[in-house]
Amino acid sequence: MDLGIKDRWAIVCAGSKGLGKACAKALVSEGVNVVINGRTESSLLAAQKELEALPNAGKVIVVAADITTPEGREKVLAAAPQIDILINNAGGPPPGNYLDWTTEDWMKALNNNMLTAIELIKAVTPKMQAQQFGRIVNITSSAVKAPISVLGLSNGARAGLTGFVAGIARTTVHDNVTINNILPGAFATDRLLQTIAAEADKNGISQEEAVDARMQKIPAKRFGQPDEFGALCAYLCSEQAAYITGQNFLIDGGAYPGTF
Ligand code: NAP
Repeated sequence: MDLGIKDRWAIVCAGSKGLGKACAKALVSEGVNVVINGRTESSLLAAQKELEALPNAGKVIVVAADITTPEGREKVLAAAPQIDILINNAGGPPPGNYLDWTTEDWMKALNNNMLTAIELIKAVTPKMQAQQFGRIVNITSSAVKAPISVLGLSNGARAGLTGFVAGIARTTVHDNVTINNILPGAFATDRLLQTIAAEADKNGISQEEAVDARMQKIPAKRFGQPDEFGALCAYLCSEQAAYITGQNFLIDGGAYPGTF
């Protein structure tokens, strides 16, 4: 299916690795020009090389900046000649015990996983509405639907973003600007593998055993591949997806046990 977005411009925040990079890959494969962002220059340059080698690749611009700061966001927004697509993403907060979290910890999580996306949405929607095309996808987490107690900072901040998006997405769609969230379950990225390595250490088991134990809890009996995530993201950014807004798409190999 031709997604009808060739030659459009996308900003993919935190797009040098993992799920962000997978979204950038899927968009580049559709002929979209991309600005990808991350804090580490070396991984950004490696991602740029990988994206430029894809068939249909157009321009791939990299911006080394912390997307959770106003200066970082300004640099990223300024790098694209026009913005048709915005993928909001940033690193997730650390796990822990809610009794230990200070107001400062909460402010950081809210800034990184809620307010940063809101600031970027604010920055792009007026122009997207004026040009009568815009697609915004926020990478959140399956924890929005099925909270994980040790990830309370993530549960709270991402649920806040989800509530904001639910309201605002209904106010832009008449101008062909949609805003949706994708909720990943367990995907085979650096972040997941680091978390599992820490779990293995804590429980005195090997990494292979820890991986197997996690996979057994997922009905699909495996982790998601980042490219599977990227494909859903690209579809939500397509011309065809104009009638889908304010939705939350769980992609978790069946891990969430509910009917809805
Ligand atoms: P990942 O493989 O660790 O990749 C994270 C990417 O984000 C890297 O490119 C990293 O580059 C960039 N990044 C992190 N903080 C940044 C910042 N402040 N400014 C700019 N770039 C930043 O992680 P992932 O698995 O793709 O996860 C992406 C998001 O999905 C996270 O919020 C995570 O919590 C969430 N999530 C992931 C899973 C999963 O199973 N993978 C499940 C649920 C939710 P630099 O470090 O160089 O900046």
